[in-house]
Amino acid sequence: MKGGKIRFVNGKLVVPDNPTVPFIEGDGTGPEIMRSVRSVVDAAVEKAYSGRRRIIWKELLAGEKALKEVGEPLPKETVDAIREYRVAIKGPLTTPVGGGYRSLNVALRQLLDLYANVRPAKYYPGVPSPLRYPEKVNMVVFRENTEDVYAGIEWKMGTQECEKVRRFLNEEMGANVPEDAGIGVKPISKRRSQRLVRRAMEYAIENGYKVLTLMHKGNIMKYTEGAFRDWGYEVLKEEFPDRVVFEGEGEETEGKVLVNDRIADNMFQQILTRPDEYGVIATTNLNGDYISDALAALVGGLGMAPGANVGDGIALFEPVHGSAPKYAGKNVINPTAGILAAKLMLEYMGWKEAADLIDGAVGRTISQRKVTYDLARHLGVAPLSTTDYTEALIENL
Ligand code: NAP
Repeated sequence: MKGGKIRFVNGKLVVPDNPTVPFIEGDGTGPEIMRSVRSVVDAAVEKAYSGRRRIIWKELLAGEKALKEVGEPLPKETVDAIREYRVAIKGPLTTPVGGGYRSLNVALRQLLDLYANVRPAKYYPGVPSPLRYPEKVNMVVFRENTEDVYAGIEWKMGTQECEKVRRFLNEEMGANVPEDAGIGVKPISKRRSQRLVRRAMEYAIENGYKVLTLMHKGNIMKYTEGAFRDWGYEVLKEEFPDRVVFEGEGEETEGKVLVNDRIADNMFQQILTRPDEYGVIATTNLNGDYISDALAALVGGLGMAPGANVGDGIALFEPVHGSAPKYAGKNVINPTAGILAAKLMLEYMGWKEAADLIDGAVGRTISQRKVTYDLARHLGVAPLSTTDYTEALIENL
């Protein structure tokens, strides 16, 4: 069957009933995970729409497989195809340490301007958690993906360039940077901050979250982190006047999202002590990196953590974890993070019924204590293989 193309018209995705959706298998455990993901998605879509809708999968090459077959790890056709088809899903890709090619994940985010890294943390009953009341955890982090200290603007201590920057800072800008310092720059821009906060707000509205929190360290870094907060409030006030209520100015009511901000260090204790008071968290790159891993730890760790990299009318979904090469080919890896990434993808496409079926099935399967090795070791039950877990999940749809 020939697939149709997802289009982006007037700021909205238009999804045909038989969209072509590209996937990248990934390295290490990636192929096992993606096999499981595709079979669960196909079963959920079939069950939700009785044949009326279907995904036509299209494999794209990246990573070791691409290197082997076409001699480069990220062929131009792969990047172009994601741009063309707009919605894609990938398995984890290995980044060689100390040489080889640079991170393909970072390259994909940059080439496609996928500026929001979206990381939900939702608790499924039965998952081992260090929290006493983990069922209160249902948060989604929107992490700015393109700037901050991750922009790669830094100089090594002792180099000519570093010395040049140090002199400029000390002699012309009145700073006092010691001679033995390395120097990094933290750019935070208005346009990029505002598009991230706008996207987080749209997500909160579309997915029924009641609270949007701007997380920042603006008390210390006033013109970067503090500006992120101010620009965030500004865009919310200007573009969503009827949908927001700011903390201290009223209560969250039907159809409105309560907007507040929290300083980053405080936010780490808030997610532990008052998780039920938060929903969507919009934040800068480094803060987002830290807080989303802390949240993942509350709801079952890496095997359970899905992610999405989202731009304007384009999105690439993936499990948060890496390629876990030591488990490759062993049929033991937990595919849930990939499966939940696919659930996010279906939501993004507007196929909510299929997404809800997957959500329910993950919950049921885990509460039946049918789990892979990573959760089984904490629950004291015998682990299922990747394929047996996938079958159990499909039965539970
Ligand atoms: P990793 O692949 O995420 O694995 C680290 C450990 O996390 C595993 O040994 C395993 O722990 C646990 N784990 C990860 N995924 C799991 C799953 N699906 N089910 C159960 N447990 C899981 O991290 P890494 O070993 O640091 O990285 C390996 C490669 O992946 C590197 O080349 C790295 O650059 C790359 N990477 C890619 C991405 C991406 O594609 N987005 C992200 C991160 C890393 P236990 O052994 O303790 O059970």
